Amino acid sequence: MKIAANECIHCNSCVRACPSVFDAIVNVSHDVIIVPELCSGCPKCVAACPVDCIYPDPDWEPTTDVSIWDEVRRG
Ligand code: SF4
Ligand code: SF4
Repeated sequence: MKIAANECIHCNSCVRACPSVFDAIVNVSHDVIIVPELCSGCPKCVAACPVDCIYPDPDWEPTTDVSIWDEVRRG
């Protein structure tokens, strides 16, 4: 997933929605960004964003660590 910086209103809803097992969304300076290597594609941030500015990232590939998904389902 990828955040369109020009559409983001910096509400941090996505940061709170990203499961703690990933913690893939961080604040960098004045931007909120998704770290591709940490993102699972779950996609809880998309549902949480009030302005729908989180989009699929064409360069992203899903994590291959299957045990991570068990933790998400438990959460
Ligand atoms: S898709 Fe899931 S893991 Fe990736 S940034 Fe959004 S909430 Fe976090
Ligand atoms: S939920 Fe959407 S608007 Fe809010 S900080 Fe995240 S990307 Fe920006």
